[in-house]
This record gives sequence, structure tokens and C-alpha cells, in this order.
Amino acid sequence: MEDTRNKILLIEDNKLDQMAFERFVKDEKLPYDCTVAASVSQAQSILASEQFDTIVADYSLGDGTAIDILDAVKDIPIIVVTGVGGGEAAIRAWRGGAYDYIIKDSEQNYLKSIPKTIENAIYCKKMREALDRKQKNLEAIFDATPVGMLLIDGNMIITRVNYTFKQMVKKEYRQIINQQIGSALCCINSICNENVKECGYGPVCKDCQIQKTIETVFDSGLSVRDIEIHPTLKVENQEIMPWFRMGVEPVIIDGSKFVIVTLSDITENKKVEYERRLAEDKYRMIFENSAVAITIVDQQEQVISWNRFAEDLLGMGKEDLHLRQVRSFYPLDEWEKIRVYNVRQKGMQHHLETRMIKKDGSIIDVDISLSVLKNPEGEIIGSIGVIRDITERKKVEEALKETMEMKSQFISTVSHELRTPLAAMKEGIAIVLDGVAGKINGMQKKFLDIAKRNVERLEVLISDVLDFQKIEAGKMKLDIQSNNIEEVVSEVYETMSLYAKKNEVELSLESVEELPKAKFDRAKIIQVLTNLVSNAIKFTPEKGRVSVSIQHQNEELIITVSDTGMGIPKEALPKIFERFYRIDRPGKQIQGTGLGLAIVHKIVMMHNGRIEVASELGQGSIFTVLLPLDPKPLQKNLAAKADKILNNSIVN
Ligand code: ADP
Repeated sequence: MEDTRNKILLIEDNKLDQMAFERFVKDEKLPYDCTVAASVSQAQSILASEQFDTIVADYSLGDGTAIDILDAVKDIPIIVVTGVGGGEAAIRAWRGGAYDYIIKDSEQNYLKSIPKTIENAIYCKKMREALDRKQKNLEAIFDATPVGMLLIDGNMIITRVNYTFKQMVKKEYRQIINQQIGSALCCINSICNENVKECGYGPVCKDCQIQKTIETVFDSGLSVRDIEIHPTLKVENQEIMPWFRMGVEPVIIDGSKFVIVTLSDITENKKVEYERRLAEDKYRMIFENSAVAITIVDQQEQVISWNRFAEDLLGMGKEDLHLRQVRSFYPLDEWEKIRVYNVRQKGMQHHLETRMIKKDGSIIDVDISLSVLKNPEGEIIGSIGVIRDITERKKVEEALKETMEMKSQFISTVSHELRTPLAAMKEGIAIVLDGVAGKINGMQKKFLDIAKRNVERLEVLISDVLDFQKIEAGKMKLDIQSNNIEEVVSEVYETMSLYAKKNEVELSLESVEELPKAKFDRAKIIQVLTNLVSNAIKFTPEKGRVSVSIQHQNEELIITVSDTGMGIPKEALPKIFERFYRIDRPGKQIQGTGLGLAIVHKIVMMHNGRIEVASELGQGSIFTVLLPLDPKPLQKNLAAKADKILNNSIVN
């Protein structure tokens, strides 16, 4: 037992009895700290400021009875002491809430039973307090549980509810207690009215999953968990359809059957799950319906997923594809090539053309985009292949290549064949013009001159077409050597001087500095410069000026050919290097094929250089060629770019 002292309030109006009590406490060495009140009012004023473990009160007091104290004090046990023959009063006091009563006797023997009675009273008080605390703790846990909880009795009536449930339905306790669960939830099938409890009696209530589950638990005595319910509720005048996860546990309280219903709101989880499923369905739809074959391969290089088109493409079914090793799809040599890319390890995307083996053993040409597959943590878990059958395209490409080769062969043969009769015609005309075959008159000379000019024009045309055909067929090869650009430009200058003189155009050559040696194809660069200078002279009226200059800057040679000629209209500038592009010059008959600048452009690009043009209509033009001193090995993309420009111009 604890050895703490007990605080006792003795309420006694008889002085002798007071003293007897105090003497008894002293003689018996009882661990009491006694306070004495001689009347109800004195006791009440003491109790207003002090706490006691027990009160021992005489029944009849001067200004009232012990029952008056009972009304004022609820949580302190009171032992009522009555006089002899006060049995009736004692029972009254006991009914009024007194813990116990003792009857006084004249020998004061009643005092002997006091310690035990007090001890019991204090023990009872402590027990009650402990129970109260436990109850309060349990209630706090009940309220703090993040799931809605209801205690339902055998009549399907809610007898207890926690705070979370109250929040769920946005109602007060009194609107929930004594209700059926449907009414408490505001199920639309139940009348949401405090006075009318329709739940369980509505037309659809017999099918209600909540009702049925609770009834089953009552009947079977077994708990039911994780039931998902989706009722339609009317909360704050709004119809909502939340999702709940419900559990029902049977419990026995005071010998009666009850169930505890737990409800967790899982609407958000359901929403997330729904959206995830929607996204998944969307991807599956794309996956299944893409007009390309898609295969997914794991880290062990085996197929784990594929779409319908993959089955069609390879002529294989599920049984052929599931966990098939990817390498078996490819001829050995192709597999070796694919392995080199090792998309999964390098973690990047790759695009390749290869061949695959169908189920029947036939080989198809395919185009594959390979990319890595990562899990949400960003780790590579496989690869995705998007495969297109390009067998037909390959066939068309082959056929086209053949046609192109034939066309190129044809152009080349015809052009060469045309040269021989042309040379004969040229010679014949020259002989007749020279008068070797007899004297010719002025009129005859005039027509022969026209014939000679046209033969020469045809010659240029044939040589341009041949050049171009070479470029198209990829047959133009460069012979890159170390050269002196000044020498090359001087040579062009020499040959063009005569032509300039004839056209009464002043041709000048400026070279500002000592120039380093550069690497280029001498004949091709001569062709470029001759073409640019002859154009400049051709499109410059008499008394105009054409000048050629060379400089060196940033590892590049910069050659400019400028003239004071007729210029190029702004809208024509972007097309000037396209093949067969010619500018219409009204009233002027200037010969040309429209191929010259296209060839110039291609040669410059093949040297890894650039060509630019600036011009003002009626003022003149400046063509600038920039050549690297050392053209690095031909960059494929530049050549491709040049080809693209040339090819586009065919369509245009
Ligand atoms: P063409 O055989 O017609 O000369 P080009 O490809 O060499 O073909 O030139 C294309 C067109 O660019 C020419 O028709 C001409 O109108 C224009 N052009 C080229 N060089 C000049 C220049 N220096 N001055 C003005 N126009 C020019």
C-alpha cells in the first residue's frame, strides 16, 4: 500500500464527536490530514478552495444535511455518519450518491470501522479515476483515428461515432447518434432527416452493400474487411459519389452484440488509380494501334511485350514472340552491327536500317528506332524498338537508282555522240567562213555567223549538261593538290581578258597581299572562276567594269568577282544557284543554260567552302567565294545540303 497521506474533511457539528474523531486518528496513528468543518456552509466554503480524498460527514448538521454536500461534491467519496436510529437517513444519503454510511453508537465504537471504510472509498475513487483516464484516452484515440468509426448496435442504430466520421459527413454528433448508418451518411436512398429513419426500409436498402455487410457480420460473428463501397450521398445539399473502404468488426459490449464499422475515404486514391489506368489505356491504345511494329526487350535481350503490328510484320504469334531472344530476329551479320550500338548500355537513341528474318525464313528490310526503357527511378530496364517494313521502299529505291543510272548513261552517251557532229559542223562553218570553199557574200556571212554562234552555244550546253550529269551521278571527283591561288586567278584573268575586251568591259585583277598556298582542285576552281568572271562580263553592258580580288583571312581564301553590270533582282537571289534558273531580261537576248552557277555552287561546296552573292538591280553584283586553305575531308552533310538544293530545283 502507498504510504502517502490522505486528506480527510470531517463535517461534524458536535464538538465532542469532533474531538473523539481527532483523538482516534492520533491514537491509531492514522495517516490522515484532517480538516474539520462544523456546518454545511463552512464545508462548502472549504471545498470551494481545497481538494480532499474523502469526506466524513455527520448526517444532520445545524444548517442542513449531508445530502446538501453530496449535491455540491461529485467526485469525492462521502461517508455519511448517522445517529442511532438514523438508518432511513443513511439509506437516503446512500441513494443520493454517498459512498457508504456508518451508524454512530454511544460507545464510539463506530470509529473503529472508519479507517477501513476510508481506505475502501479512496481505493474506489482511484479506480474510478484510472478508469476515467483510460476511457478518455480510448476516446481520444477513437477520435484521432484517421478513419471514420461507428459503433452500431443490434438494431442497426449508431451508438457511438468518432470525430473523423463527423467530419466526413459534415454533421454534428447528435445528427449521427441514434441514426441508421445510411441516414448518418446521408445516403440519397435514405431520407436525410433527423426524425425519419428510413435507412434499411427504402426500396433499394435491401440491396445496400453496407447494410448487407453489417448484417452478415452480426449473423456470422466474423469480421469483414476491405470492402469498397461507392454510395451516392447528399452532403450539404450536393450529391457526391465518394469511394470508401469499409471494415466491419463484431464486438460484445456488456453482453450485447455490436459492430464497429470503419470507413476510409479512398476517393482520391481511386481518382489517381483511374487516371493511371486511363493513361495506361491511352498508351496501350497508341502501342496497339500505331501503324508500326513495336517490341519491348528486357535486360536479358528477350522480348517481353509487342503490338499486333509486330506479329504481322514478323508473321509470328504470341508463342513465337514471348521471351524470344532478339538476336534470333536478325541475320548474323546484321546482329553484329546492331550489337555495336548497344543502346541499352549507352542509354541513347539509335536509328538504323537493317534486315530481319520472318517466321517463314524470308528476309525483310526494316528501319528501326531503338531507345532505352527506364523505370520510374530512371534505371534502364530494357529497350524499345519501333520497326517499319521498308522492303517496298528499298525496291523502289533500287528501281530508281537503276533508272537514274540509265538516264545518266543515256545523257552521257548522247552528249558525247552530239559532240562529234557538232565539231564537224563547226569546222565546216569555219571553212566556209574563211572563204576556202569559195567567196561568200555578206548575207551568207551573216547567216553563217548565226550558225557558228549557235553551234558554240550548243557546245557550252553539252559541256554543262555533261558536268552536271557527273555531279548528279556522284561521279565528279576532286583532285585536291597544293596550289597557288594567284597563279590560278591570273590564268583565268588571261583567258577572260580577250572576252572582256570584245565586250568592251574593263577587267582588273587585285591581289592585296602575299597569299599562302592552298589545297584545292585546280581545274575545278578555274572552272568556278571562269564561270563567275564570264557571267560578270556577260551581264555587264559596254564600258562597265569587272574586277577580281583575292584575300586571305581566318584560314580561308576569299575571292570576289564584282561587276558594275545589270545586277540581280532581290527575289531572284535565293534561287540563283538552282539549276536551270535564269533571269528573264526583257529586251535583251543573253545566252545561257542556267546551269553555270549550279555547277559553281556544287564545286565550292565540295571544297567545303561557301559562295555568297550580293547585288543591286542596275548597279552590279558581287560574288564571293570562300575556300578553306585545307578542305577537311568532305563533310557529308555539306554535300547532302548541296544535293538537296540541287534536287529541290528539279521539282521547282
Ligand atoms: P546562265 O547560263 O544563264 O548564265 P548561270 O547559272 O550562270 O546561268 O546564271 C544564272 C542566272 O543568274 C543568269 O541567267 C543571270 O540572269 C544571273 N547572273 C549570274 N551572274 C550574274 C551577274 N554577274 N550579274 C547579273 N546577273 C547574273
